[in-house]
Amino acid sequence: MARKGLLLILSSPSGAGKSTLTRMLMAWDATMRFSVSATTRAPRPGEADGREYFFRSRAEFETMVRDGQMLEHAEVFGNFYGTPRGPVEANMKDGCDTVFDIDWQGGQQIRNSALGRDVVSIFVLPPSIAELDRRLRTRAQDSDEVIAGRMAKSRDEISHWAEYDYVLVNRDLDATFEQLKTILQSERMRRDRQPGLSDFVRTLNKEFEAR
Ligand code: ADP
Ligand code: 5GP
Repeated sequence: MARKGLLLILSSPSGAGKSTLTRMLMAWDATMRFSVSATTRAPRPGEADGREYFFRSRAEFETMVRDGQMLEHAEVFGNFYGTPRGPVEANMKDGCDTVFDIDWQGGQQIRNSALGRDVVSIFVLPPSIAELDRRLRTRAQDSDEVIAGRMAKSRDEISHWAEYDYVLVNRDLDATFEQLKTILQSERMRRDRQPGLSDFVRTLNKEFEAR
C-alpha cells in the first residue's frame, strides 16, 4: 500500500553517534534516502563530495541560499551548513523516507516549515560528557582545537533536547539502533502516513456488501 515519505531528523552534540546510527539505518533499509547537506567546511579524510556533503565555497553556498535552493541553513562551528530542497521534495513524491543529520537550528526550521507534519525528530544524547569527549577523540578526524570547540558547543546543542519527538541515550550502539528502528517502524504505521487506507477500507466494505 502506498505510504507517504517521512522526514527523520537526527540531532545530537557532535560525537554522540548520529552519523554512525544514520549509516546503520541506510544499510538496513535501502529505500531510505540520506539528505546530503551542503557545507562550507573542508572535507575530512575519507569524505567524498556528493556523498557525505556537497563541499562548497562560501560564495557558492550564499548563491544557493539566495536562489531559494535550501530548505534550511545555519552556521555551525563557524561554517555554513544547509539542506538542499530538491532531493527532499523528490523523495517525498517517490514515497521514500529521508534521513537528516542536522543540528537543532536546522531541526527547528524544518519542523516550522510547511513540511513540519511529515517530520519525526530524534535527539541522541551521549551516556556522559566524559564519553562524548572520548568518542570525539577516538574518531580522530579533528584537531585538538576543533574538538575543544565542539565540546564547548555541546552544552548548547544538548539544551535543545526537549524540542524533539524522541530522545535516545546512545550507550550501547546496537541497543540504540534497535530503538531507532522501532521508532521508524511505528512512525511509518501512523494512520496519516498511509493514504491508501481509506480505499482499502472501502474494498473491505464492498466485500461485506457482496456477502
Ligand atoms: P556524530 O555524528 O554524532 O558526530 P559519530 O557517529 O561520528 O558522531 O560518532 C563519534 C564516534 O563515536 C565514532 O568513532 C563512533 O564510531 C563512536 N560511537 C558511536 N556510537 C557509539 C557507542 N554507542 N559506543 C561507543 N562508540 C560509539
Ligand atoms: P560535521 O562538521 O561534524 O559533519 O557536522 C557538524 C554539525 O553540523 C552536526 O551537528 C551536523 O548535524 C550539523 N549539520 C550537518 N548538515 C547540516 C545541515 O544541512 N543543516 C544544519 N542546520 N546542520 C547541519
